[in-house]
Amino acid sequence: HTIEDANTFFHIYNQEMYYKKLNNVRLKNDLRKAVENKELYLVYQPKLDLKQKKIVALEALTRWKHPQIGSISPEFFIPIAENSNLINKIDKWVIKQVISELNKNDILKKYQKTISINLSPYDLKDNSLPIFLEELIEKEKINTNQIDFEITESVLLDSLSNELDNLNKLKELGFLISLDDFGKGYSSLSYLTKLPLDILKIDKSFIKNINFGSNKILIEKIIELSHQLNLKVVAEGVENKKEVEILQKLNCDFVQGYYYYRPMPLEEIARIIDRN
Ligand code: C2E
Ligand code: MG
Ligand code: MG
Ligand code: MG
Repeated sequence: HTIEDANTFFHIYNQEMYYKKLNNVRLKNDLRKAVENKELYLVYQPKLDLKQKKIVALEALTRWKHPQIGSISPEFFIPIAENSNLINKIDKWVIKQVISELNKNDILKKYQKTISINLSPYDLKDNSLPIFLEELIEKEKINTNQIDFEITESVLLDSLSNELDNLNKLKELGFLISLDDFGKGYSSLSYLTKLPLDILKIDKSFIKNINFGSNKILIEKIIELSHQLNLKVVAEGVENKKEVEILQKLNCDFVQGYYYYRPMPLEEIARIIDRN
């Protein structure tokens, strides 16, 4: 808890210093080598069932430990990766790494939790992604319906796009699909029926402001609509008990946030799951 707090503080502090001193070109070059240099690693944040308060899923989140600067937040390096053709490589590394960590962890193999992996809109542009996944399924032991890809809305996702074709291919391979950050920016309701979704994640900015203006009624209606469309709903960024109580009343299915667990190494979560 306090370690993540301190990390977050230093992230911000270091990043500001870093950005004053260096430009994106340097960061881009460093990021290019980060996979080979083993500077990336994964932490996982639990999602809980709101009725039984049991951990049902884990979201993999990438961390970059830069040899000179220290931890750099994905809020900074993912956009850089997206603007420099590095995101496909990084996210393929994430997928492989998740599978490898899962297959090595006896507790997680036993309890079969869903694992969520974030995909960038640029990953869906990459036609080699479905092929990469098919090959991985042949090589490794993968329960595709145990892996959930979190996608974010994108102007690219219109009904005729190549991106949608690729998304449908992932769906056909048996993977679950979540729509991440719903309610942030210009979310379109039409995504809920046009995309092959299983889960909708309400953005944390919405949850934070759940008691302001008409947010509560909007969240209530989004949850109702999702259920009518057979989607499960996750609220992300849940930070206090009050929010939990409201979300329970609104019939939300799952919650994720600092109120329950911060992102942490897989072995730590495995111990928690085993204890419960
Ligand atoms: P996201 O997928 O929406 O993930 C949720 C973010 O909210 C995470 O930040 C998580 O640590 C943070 N969070 C969780 N609970 C709370 C809470 O209660 N309060 C607040 N204020 N924040 C909370 P993180 O790990 O810094 O990741 C930021 C974003 O970077 C992610 O947002 C995701 O879009 C992107 N990202 C992270 N890892 C990857 C990755 O491997 N691939 C891709 N393509 N994107 C990634
Ligand atoms: Mg996510
Ligand atoms: Mg995301
Ligand atoms: Mg999100």
